[in-house]
Amino acid sequence: MILAFLEHDAGTPTQLGAETIGFAGALADRLDQALEVVAVGPEAEKAAAAAAPPAEVVHLGLGGLGTYAPRAWAHVLADVAGAGGAVAVVAPGSERGNEVMAHLAAMTDLPLATNCVALDPVAEAGPAGGDGPWRLTRNRWAGSLLEDAELDPGQGRPRLLTVALGARPPGAGRQPVGAPAIRPAGTVADDTDLAVAVGDVVQPEGSGVSLTDARVIVSGGRGVGGEDGFALLEQLASLLGGAVGCSRVVTSEGWRPHRDQVGQTGTRVSPELYIACGISGAIQHMVGCKGAKRILAINTDPDAPIMGKADYAVLGDLHDVLPAIVAELRRARGAAD
Ligand SMILES: Cc1cc2nc3c(=O)[nH]c(=O)nc-3n(C[C@H](O)[C@H](O)[C@H](O)COP(=O)(O)OP(=O)(O)OC[C@H]3O[C@@H](n4cnc5c(N)ncnc54)[C@H](O)[C@@H]3O)c2cc1C
Repeated sequence: MILAFLEHDAGTPTQLGAETIGFAGALADRLDQALEVVAVGPEAEKAAAAAAPPAEVVHLGLGGLGTYAPRAWAHVLADVAGAGGAVAVVAPGSERGNEVMAHLAAMTDLPLATNCVALDPVAEAGPAGGDGPWRLTRNRWAGSLLEDAELDPGQGRPRLLTVALGARPPGAGRQPVGAPAIRPAGTVADDTDLAVAVGDVVQPEGSGVSLTDARVIVSGGRGVGGEDGFALLEQLASLLGGAVGCSRVVTSEGWRPHRDQVGQTGTRVSPELYIACGISGAIQHMVGCKGAKRILAINTDPDAPIMGKADYAVLGDLHDVLPAIVAELRRARGAAD
């Protein structure tokens, strides 16, 4: 059995959570194994219904496991994996997924391969059925480096891995297998399990579209020049139904809150369009926005690294270019009304 961890926010599966189920399903098919899914936390049942995993069984974490308590959640995974003789446990390579799996690895004394982008469980040289070493490629240094590695069965089972956003699944997508059986999972957590637990989640006031959900992000860097300069970016984001992001310089200067920061130490985003205004394109920023389908850069410096990485580049002062875009959008919309 392949066991997948369904990550969700109050009942809504995260994008990476959904991708992880797809990845684990393809692995299950490839190895001719059943797929079982664990969902924990408030609204776990709703998350499982929304994700509709092509699984034989969905295990729902018992109450009392907190909004997020990594050790307690790892115990649930350990119980289900142990009882079902899991071949592998697959979780999203998110902060939560990696943390829960690190606890599971410590509890079981097993190696953990994090942030995998590709996996070959039946390498030509190895025995059939996934019993040999699993070849995998994983992100290192926040995705600026790819590492080829092997997960050796001699180190014990189940194999533990987490999946990076946009990873290539080890096979084709799994066909639906009908409604999965629903089972309660987990033991009642003790004080040690709950020593680290999220007590409450408070949504920031007045926040519109979140960075992770936005289809368009208008992001600003040092070139914006100050807090007030972001009014221009807000205008464009609002016209496009998007969100405003920023670089770390901007949060360090106190122009925007940290929740708006994109990058290695901020949020990783994957919008349809990422508009980078006055951002140089440092590697630590690019790892946060490289999941974008298209990047449009606006910069005064033709040699700024982002100008070579963007799909579209406008060479110019953002204080001229953004008002022109906003005016043109308004004109086009007015003409359409
Ligand atoms: C461990 C570590 C983690 C980090 N994590 C992050 C992270 O999560 N996110 C992040 O963003 N950074 C991160 N950084 C910082 C990163 O290395 C860069 O310093 C930062 O991204 C630079 O921000 P910037 O592009 O806004 O500023 P700059 O590098 O100063 O670039 C400003 C750009 O604006 C252009 N410009 C200036 N004026 C205008 C104008 N009027 N119109 C148009 N263009 C103009 C300039 O040509 C330049 O290209 C991290 C660094 C470290 C060491």
